Amino acid sequence: MEIFRYTRAADVPQAIAAGATSNTAQQGAQVRFIAGGTTLLDLMKLDVERPSLLVDINRLPLDKVEKLPDGQLKVGALVRNSDLAHNPLVKENYAVLSEALLAGASAQLRNMATTGGNLLQRTRCMYFRNDAMACNKREPGSGCSAIEGDNRTLAILGTSKDCIATNPSDMNVALTALEAVIHVQGPKGERSIPIGEFFLVPGNTPQRETVLEAGDLITHVTLPAPRPNSKQVYLKLRDRASYEFALASAAVIAEINGGKITYVRVALGGVGTKPWRSVEAERVLHGRKADDATFREAANAALHGAVPQSGNGFKVELAKRCLTHALAMTTA
Ligand SMILES: Cc1cc2nc3c(=O)[nH]c(=O)nc-3n(C[C@H](O)[C@H](O)[C@H](O)COP(=O)(O)OP(=O)(O)OC[C@H]3O[C@@H](n4cnc5c(N)ncnc54)[C@H](O)[C@@H]3O)c2cc1C
Ligand code: SF4
Repeated sequence: MEIFRYTRAADVPQAIAAGATSNTAQQGAQVRFIAGGTTLLDLMKLDVERPSLLVDINRLPLDKVEKLPDGQLKVGALVRNSDLAHNPLVKENYAVLSEALLAGASAQLRNMATTGGNLLQRTRCMYFRNDAMACNKREPGSGCSAIEGDNRTLAILGTSKDCIATNPSDMNVALTALEAVIHVQGPKGERSIPIGEFFLVPGNTPQRETVLEAGDLITHVTLPAPRPNSKQVYLKLRDRASYEFALASAAVIAEINGGKITYVRVALGGVGTKPWRSVEAERVLHGRKADDATFREAANAALHGAVPQSGNGFKVELAKRCLTHALAMTTA
């Protein structure tokens, strides 16, 4: 195994495109970027990821959090999760993101994990992580062991007959509610991808999780200018109080004027095959009185399309209660 190290972001995709190595992309490619390594090295030890070459991006100057002249916040792809969570601008203006990051993993992992790596972390489906089991995401066409197997922690929204794996990230749920934009540098140049268009539901190609193409390097993420009158909450429900992935989570950003909800964004975690924005819930909430009946109606709308499996039917009610409670906290 070889490891390449670059110090300029522009050199990375160009070198790959020029054929210095074979193409890199997120799914099963021979060449992989490595940032904090907390997902990738785990999967290499399990023989699930088998890159022949690693491109170490840790020396690239992508580790800054900066306020832009138009009020947006620019977060470099290599900003560590702990630095982002404790950044004063993030704590003050994007509390939902700070709370989501601090709800994830452990302090040690957050010190290593990066913004770009967290966006692209892989599912915790146990069959994906065990190369003796059939898994369409790991080995397209081999089947899905989870549908007839242990699926208690897996998804109920956005599933297909080929894959029901959950997107495990807490950060991604907050970024979805915040309507973040992901900036990428690839062999064809730079592009900016709204987070709502970044993740893919599995359909019949569960091995493809994002719209990233071969050679694409995430350089940074931007957050819209702060909404000073909003309240923000990330609520995560899990089997134990720390060091555990979400069974259900909710990120809510809301503004109340004259007792009515005038702005709201809702995203769910732990239940979707991708971080799950619920425009259905937002539609119910907009312009309505902030009370329990409205919150419950919104939660019913958010879970309307849920397709539970044999072991995770409890998630439908759990996610509804999670969202109802997060809405009450945000609007209290
Ligand atoms: C025990 C444990 C518990 C955890 N608990 C939680 C939890 O509760 N909640 C949660 O959200 N997460 C949790 N995590 C996951 C953790 O947050 C991720 O492993 C971490 O965020 C990944 O970041 P990284 O920088 O280490 O990524 P890496 O492992 O370095 O990379 C991950 C993937 O992203 C790609 N990549 C990295 N950076 C870039 C870039 N700039 N451009 C393009 N591709 C890139 C890599 O090629 C790789 O495919 C847990 C992890 C562990 C090991
Ligand atoms: S749910 Fe997806 S990741 Fe899990 S076994 Fe099925 S195909 Fe693989």
